[in-house]
Amino acid sequence: MKRRQALICLCGIGFASLTRGALAKANLSSIPIKRHETAMRAAIAMAAQNAAYPFGAVITNANSGVVLAKGVNKTFENPVLHGEISCINQYVSQYGNKNWSDTVLYTTGEPCPMCMSALIWTGIGGVVFGSSIAVIKSSGIDAFTLSADEVNKASNFSQTQLLGGILETECNALFMNRKRS
Ligand SMILES: [Zn+2]
Repeated sequence: MKRRQALICLCGIGFASLTRGALAKANLSSIPIKRHETAMRAAIAMAAQNAAYPFGAVITNANSGVVLAKGVNKTFENPVLHGEISCINQYVSQYGNKNWSDTVLYTTGEPCPMCMSALIWTGIGGVVFGSSIAVIKSSGIDAFTLSADEVNKASNFSQTQLLGGILETECNALFMNRKRS
């Protein structure tokens, strides 16, 4: 009897953890567009805090869409504090260095090679952006020509999914109408 209970118990644990894993893993294509747009609006709201470099970002829970952390470009404080890095830092300070695969980062602009590499190192489930690097460049902001997709494909371990063009019109307007000194 005891042996039978132990077997049932083990099966239960195995099934529960498998199910949880399957649900938790971010899958960008299964997230409704409306939810992508809601998260991008939160990133746009963050971008409004920097009129010259309107890079805003949020990290959400992939399953619920709840915003877990926010960031905005703070390169006036520190040259590497791009919006995505600020957001990563805020996430870690609040939740610790864990559960990355359950999260998705939304950013108004396509991540530069530094930020895309950092995001890949976190093991984040997905990255969603509004404006392309081409638009960012045409707004007069210094940029690398290497795309986020090229950086993603250049690693031999990334499982990060990428999606561009969410609320692209709104994000493009942020960059094209940015404050120029
Ligand atoms: Zn960057």
